[in-house]
Formats: sequence, structure tokens, C-alpha cells
Amino acid sequence: MTARRWTIGELLNVSALYLKDKGVESPRLTAELLLALKLGLERVALYLRFDQPLQDEEVAGFRELIRRRLLAEPVAYIRGEKEFWSMAFKVGPGVLIPRPETELLVEQVLDVVRGSPESATEHIRILELGTGSGAVAVALAKSLSSAQVWATEISSEALGYAEANVGRHGVAERVHLLQGDLWEPVRPLGIRFDFVVSNPPYVASEVYDTLPSGVHDYEPRVALDGGERGMHFVTRIIEGAPEFLVPGGWLLIEMSPEQTETALDLVSRQKVYDSARRVEDYTHRYRVVMVRRM
Ligand code: GLN
Repeated sequence: MTARRWTIGELLNVSALYLKDKGVESPRLTAELLLALKLGLERVALYLRFDQPLQDEEVAGFRELIRRRLLAEPVAYIRGEKEFWSMAFKVGPGVLIPRPETELLVEQVLDVVRGSPESATEHIRILELGTGSGAVAVALAKSLSSAQVWATEISSEALGYAEANVGRHGVAERVHLLQGDLWEPVRPLGIRFDFVVSNPPYVASEVYDTLPSGVHDYEPRVALDGGERGMHFVTRIIEGAPEFLVPGGWLLIEMSPEQTETALDLVSRQKVYDSARRVEDYTHRYRVVMVRRM
């Protein structure tokens, strides 16, 4: 380093351009998140200190974070945190980073609850299959103050993050984390649920190797690979969920847009569901299939 003293504003501008040039997604946001991390500040606080000069050590540390990002490491892993439903969730190697489109699951459950008679909305029971970081389960528990949530997860590594997040958001008494495959851990409890929700692995095995390297090389395959055409878990969930739903209970599954048609066919063949619908994500692509158990 020369005697050049960077200000926060200058460093952000120059780094955002650099990241953009390197083809990094959301270059400005990335620069802001990583500089905020290095300085131990909230991102908005950077703007209040735009003209503040930085120490050489701060600039060097920031450059190291940028270098990691350029090697494709997800920003959320570098920060150890990802925002979902306006809450911060602990993430890192071994757990899927919550995606913004998954907020649809939370939003749609809340929509159904708000459209129901009040008497039906107390003591709601929700089952989440494959909770990963626990983001959906925690967001639902926070949003529905009398709901009980059971959340399963096959990966013990992911479950560790879920436990941390449930604790961090103060919902440990109402979010019950259980390790195992889909509903296997809740089967012995004999509970029927008002909602079964899931963002299962749904990337087709056939295209797994074409995923962006930030996803492919860093995030756990067990959370992403949905087998042939990505339909392995979606199919199992549609076929098996009725056993765990109360009459009138809802099943909501996130999947890729091109899977939704097949999923609706499968649903109608079960002859136990009605009110089937698809919900679009913010890019206007079908992302969630939801159906009611008759
Ligand atoms: N949408 C995810 C992706 O980034 C897939 C998530 C999943 O398989 N549940 O590819």
C-alpha cells in the first residue's frame, strides 16, 4: 500500500466497479456488506461515515474478503449470516442459505391464517420438512404467536444452525427441531398438522453440475439435489403429506417453475386434495404449489 488514505465512500465506489467488472452479482451490495463486516458496522452506518478515512489494516482486511468472494464463496458464508423475513439467520458451510423466494412459503401460510375464522387460528400446528437453517420455521413462529412448529432436518450440521437460530430469535419453546428424513421424526408423535410446508431439494440431478459455482462448490448438495428431474422429494411429499394433515389442512411446497405443472398433476391423482394453486415469486414465475387436504 502507498500512502493513499481511502475513505469509506471511495473504497466502496472503487470496489463496486471492480466487482462489477469481475462479473460478481450485486456488486455494490456485496462491497457494502463486506466493508460493513470488516468494520463491524451496520450497512446503513457506512453512509453516515462516507468521508471517514480508513486504516491500512481495514483496507487490507476488506481486500481479503473481496478476494474470497471472487473465488465464488457466497457473501452469506463470509458474513456468517443471511437476512430472511427481516431477521438475521446464522449460516455457514453445511447449511443452505435462505433464498428470498422462500419467504413466499411464510407469506402464503399467513395469508391462509388471516383468511380463516379466528377460532381456527389459535394453536395452529405447523410441520416444516427440511428446515435447514430454520428460517421458515422461525419466521412462522415469530409471525404466529400461538403456533407450534415442528421442523425436521436430516443433516446434523444444518440442524446445528437451526438450533442456533431458534435460540437467537427466542422461539425455542414453540419450535421443535427433530433430526430425520421428512416426517419420520414426527410419525411417532401421532400429530396431525394444520400446515405442512417445505422447501425441499429440487434441483434436477441432471443439471446439478451446471449450478453456479457459488452454489455448487459451497452449499450442501443434500439440500439442493432433488434427484431425477428434481422431483424426488416433491413427489414423496405430495404422496405422503395427507397422512399428516388435518382435514382442511394445507400443504405448501416450493419448487422450480417447470416442476409446478407435474406437481399439480400428481396432486389431482391423489384425490385427497382440493383448492390447488400455484403462487408466483417476485420474478413472476410459479414457485410454490399449495393444496388443501379434503
Ligand atoms: N432455488 C435454489 C437454488 O438456488 C434451489 C433450492 C432448493 O433446491 N430447495 O438453486
